[in-house]
Amino acid sequence: MASRGRRGRRVALGLVGALLLGGAPGLQAQDSGSARSEVGGELPRVLILTTGGTIASTPGDMLSGEALVGAVPELGDYARLTVEEVFRIGSSSMTPDHWLRLGRRILAARAEDPGWAGIVVTHGTDTMEETSYFLDRVLPPGPPVVLTGSMRPAGSLSADGPRNLVDAVRVATSPTAVGQGVLVVLNERIHAGADVRKTHDESVETFRSSEWGALGRVHADTVRLDRTVASPDGPRAVFDLEGLSSLPGVALVPDYAGASGTAVEEAAAGARGVVVETFAGGRMSPGVRAAVQRVAAQGSPVVLASREEEGRIPTGAGEPDGESLVLVSPGLPAHKARILLMLALTRTDDPVELRRILVRD
Ligand code: ASP
Repeated sequence: MASRGRRGRRVALGLVGALLLGGAPGLQAQDSGSARSEVGGELPRVLILTTGGTIASTPGDMLSGEALVGAVPELGDYARLTVEEVFRIGSSSMTPDHWLRLGRRILAARAEDPGWAGIVVTHGTDTMEETSYFLDRVLPPGPPVVLTGSMRPAGSLSADGPRNLVDAVRVATSPTAVGQGVLVVLNERIHAGADVRKTHDESVETFRSSEWGALGRVHADTVRLDRTVASPDGPRAVFDLEGLSSLPGVALVPDYAGASGTAVEEAAAGARGVVVETFAGGRMSPGVRAAVQRVAAQGSPVVLASREEEGRIPTGAGEPDGESLVLVSPGLPAHKARILLMLALTRTDDPVELRRILVRD
């Protein structure tokens, strides 16, 4: 399997590399272009896709995927690893195009090689929750996909990246992770990729899944889930990426005391739809409410999503009339409702169908 230049470079950390790093021989020996030869017994095989972020950051630079993984020889105790660098960026630079490319890379990796026990994605923490929500909506059931990152740069005092990476590989190879959707693992905790939010600018305990809590924890001796993602509403929709060259543009506009509403109309002019981050219960300022009505009447879907961290907006907070384009995302934060509306608009413009998709999530 030939390597593909700096971006999209896939490397199986060689046995020599493993020995140099003092790692266990659980890593595949492979030169670029050579046939894959596996060394290291029966350890499960994990594909690590790297995208950058603080976990790979060093003063003034960012480690390659190969260097990031090669610096953690303990990984070879848990899996035979193949590393592929997909991007090398801070996650504040991630765009819907990056989400599409990453989602496609994971689908292709699964199709190319059904032997992966799991896939780990290293990613910046700033927008990890958006990427994990997107991937959770577009990846059908399959080998676990686990995102991880770090709050402290590589090589810094008490860097959390190496431990998070080992924990992510342990979760990705754990039978308990199968069927739980996309997962986010940091600071020993296992979160549902659709639920998790970054809540602290500095703490390694930054990720929380507010109302429901983490799914489980990575213990010294075991990976344990104390709850599952099963929902009384059944499995969520999986959106097909086939044939999608881009995602529809959807803007996000926060409401606030005294807002005039012009931002809603300006946003609608340049997008397929708008998400308004409302007050509790879907309530809006008079200016924003009037603008929402005008924009919807002109044919743009507007989704109301509460700025409150917990609870649900009543589905009647929008327009009870099924044909209205004032829609409600009852339980998602605005930045995830935006992703759901983007994906829904790849399927339909019909208000009734849009409403059904949005209310389910
Ligand atoms: N500080 C962020 C991180 O923790 C930077 C980023 O999201 O890329 O990764």
